[in-house]
Formats: sequence, C-alpha cells, structure tokens
Amino acid sequence: MALHLLGVTLDELRGWFVEQGQPRYRADQVADWVFAKDADSFEQMTNLGKPLRTWLAERCELYRSTLTREAASEDATRKLLLTFADGAAVETVWIPEEARQTACLSSQVGCPVGCAFCASGLEGVQRNLTAGEIVEQALRVRRLVRTAAGDPTARLTNIVMMGMGEPLANYQEVVKAIRIMNAAWGLGIGARKITVSTVGLPQQIRKLAGEELQLNLALSLHAPDDDLRRRLVPWGKVPIAELLDACEYYFRHTGREVTLEYVLLEGVNNLPEHARRLAPLARHLRANVNLLRYNPVPGLPFERPTAESAFAFQQQLRDLGVNVHLRSSRGQDIAAACGQLRRAAATSATC
Ligand code: SF4
Repeated sequence: MALHLLGVTLDELRGWFVEQGQPRYRADQVADWVFAKDADSFEQMTNLGKPLRTWLAERCELYRSTLTREAASEDATRKLLLTFADGAAVETVWIPEEARQTACLSSQVGCPVGCAFCASGLEGVQRNLTAGEIVEQALRVRRLVRTAAGDPTARLTNIVMMGMGEPLANYQEVVKAIRIMNAAWGLGIGARKITVSTVGLPQQIRKLAGEELQLNLALSLHAPDDDLRRRLVPWGKVPIAELLDACEYYFRHTGREVTLEYVLLEGVNNLPEHARRLAPLARHLRANVNLLRYNPVPGLPFERPTAESAFAFQQQLRDLGVNVHLRSSRGQDIAAACGQLRRAAATSATC
C-alpha cells in the first residue's frame, strides 16, 4: 500500500527515506512541499529531480479524497463532502470569522454514538479515518482559506474535532493527526487552538490528559441527568458523575478548562428545571457551557428553540453562576447539522 504522506510524522518520514536508501533530508523537503507549500502533486516538487519525483509517485500518496459536494452558506461557512476511494464519505466544515479560521473535522465515517437528534449517527459507523485522512481535511480547508485571502501563506488558526464520529473512539489516529497538525513542520496550529469534542469515554479522557498536549476538551453533555442523557445519547452509558470525574482529572493534569456542549432541543432539555440541574454540574467543574440551538434534521422529531427561549436558558444559567455562551448557528441554510450533507448526497444518489 502506498505511503500516505499526509499521515506520517516527520520522524517517520525521515526513517522511511533512510530505509529506502535515500538521504534523510529528502523527508524535510517533501514535508515542506506538502505542509508549507500545499503541493498536491509530486510534479510540483521542483527541488527534487524528475527521477525521484517519479519514484515517489510510485510509492506514496498525497490527497486520497475527492471533493464530491460543496455547500456555501450565506454566512460564508462552507461545508465539503469528501469521498475516499472505498466510497466512504465525510463532512468537513470551514468556519471563517474575522479573527480566526476554523476547520471542523470528522474523525470517523458515520458515528457509533447515535445521538437521537443527529444525522451522522443514523447509519452507525462505517470505519475509522486514518490520521492522514483527518489531516487531509484540515489541509483542504486551509486551501480554501488561502484562496479566499489571495495569500499563499494565510493560516488555518483553529481545529475542532466536532464533525462526524467520536474522536476518542478512534484515539490513536486522532492523536497522531493532532500531532501532525500541531507540529511546526506540519500545519503549525497551536494545541490550545485545537478542541477535541467527545460524548465521554472516561478512560480515553484520562489518557489524553497524559499526552502532553494542551488541547481543549469539550464534553457533549446535552442533558443534566442520566435518564435524559441516555435517551439523547444512547451510546453514552457512562453516568454523568463518572464523566465529570474524568473531566476534572483532565483539568487537573493539563490546566485546560473543559467546555460542556449543550444542544438546545425545544421542550426536551431547555426547560428551567434543566438549567437548574445543569448549573451545579458546570460550577463544580468550573466549566464553560456552550449552548447551541439545534439545527433540525428532516425526519427526526426534534425542534429548534426560538432565540428568545435560548437567551432565557442562557440567562438562567448565568443567574445561577455559570459561565455560559450561546454559540451562533453557522451555516443554517446549508444543512448545517452534522451528517446532513452526506445524507443528502446518499439520498440523491439512490433516488
Ligand atoms: S452528535 Fe456527534 S456524537 Fe452524536 S451521533 Fe452526531 S456525530 Fe456522533
């Protein structure tokens, strides 16, 4: 199998070149083309001789996916559907803002978690993505950033692992991808600008704390008690108390505050009693709470709360001493909820 150059560390690449009887510095040259100069073909690597470029093309791969769909929102959010050779398709989102350029990346094809309100979980998980397939998404978004800015050195500033899949269920590849995106020779994105979002696997949260990466951790809570959470996040069988213990451990070992993500579902988890039960959990953890109004998914029985009721929920949490933000729903007009573009593509392909 060809070596996927987007998914190997510089040390691995140096080792590989040496094994192949090539000088070690070739790895640095290739990494520079791939990560700094955005090369998507070996032909572009003009400081390598033609025979070496041909030799590399026979043994290595650059981009594995093709862009099969793209949707641009009025608010400039751009959603990409990337399809790999085996037919697996994932969504990647670019969220441009004045001060930052964020890529929302998928970690798996589909998702094993099956949140009751999400399109990505409807068909379960097809497979894990490799580190290279995760990095590839970030590189594709960075190209959009650079093209839009008309600047070949423009930076992708933030990564959120909040796309399709449960990142901590694909732990090894996700952490490797993060190391590549974080490395100065890679995408050079500071660890503090990278967020891993999880429904909560306590063992992996503790393991992540030991990686010596200063990542942001976001726990997708969505409910303030175990009964409701089991209904909304059926895969998340671990009691909330146990999850919060793991988050506290993460905070103690990394010094990074944990964020609680909470999708507001009208009449389901956005009542005053829910805010009253959520507040002590957030205060105990000294966590920020990020509220997000649900983006409806056709066929699923959940509704988006009005802006007024979302503000009221936010205010109630504030009054109860919680640090809380109501995130704007980006890309509302482009099937913004996770997994919808992929689903739409699959549906139109089979209709
Ligand atoms: S919301 Fe996230 S964790 Fe839940 S099913 Fe969708 S992709 Fe998976």
